[in-house]
Amino acid sequence: MDDAVNKVKEAVGLPVIEERRTSSRLWFSQRELRLRYTISIDRLRRFFEGLAEGKVYATRCKHCGTLYFPPQADCPRCRRSDMEWVEVKGEGTLLTYTVIYTKPASFAHYDDYAVGVARFPPGVNVLAWLSENDPRRLRVGMKVVLRVVRRLPENYLTYQLVPVED
Ligand SMILES: [Zn+2]
Repeated sequence: MDDAVNKVKEAVGLPVIEERRTSSRLWFSQRELRLRYTISIDRLRRFFEGLAEGKVYATRCKHCGTLYFPPQADCPRCRRSDMEWVEVKGEGTLLTYTVIYTKPASFAHYDDYAVGVARFPPGVNVLAWLSENDPRRLRVGMKVVLRVVRRLPENYLTYQLVPVED
């Protein structure tokens, strides 16, 4: 770090760090923010009822036919709220995946996990954890199904991609 910045840093306690890779000087906020989303489920209740039944639902705009997953209660393309529920089922095709070894803080208590994106009929992409975290058993193009599972230790229902046995 250059002398001018160092002098200011010493004099006023300027919160500056030098980024190792680029040597850029970065000011960093002294407040650590915790972020927790709250999302209204009033108009998406069917999705959660579906999970309890072992089903995964997307929404489709009745006007333009666009499919949304995760489901949306409104269609941003035509600004209407005339949606229908469509079950995402059958075999999907794994489009991509990655294994997460370095987890975000809120997921640090889980074993290493794989996340993938799969394309399901009738044409919707689903981003989800995979049931398999061994990259030797995963490949792009493999068939997967969606399965509702209970995420532990939190004990809530979610969905994951499960490779279909050959
Ligand atoms: Zn629409």
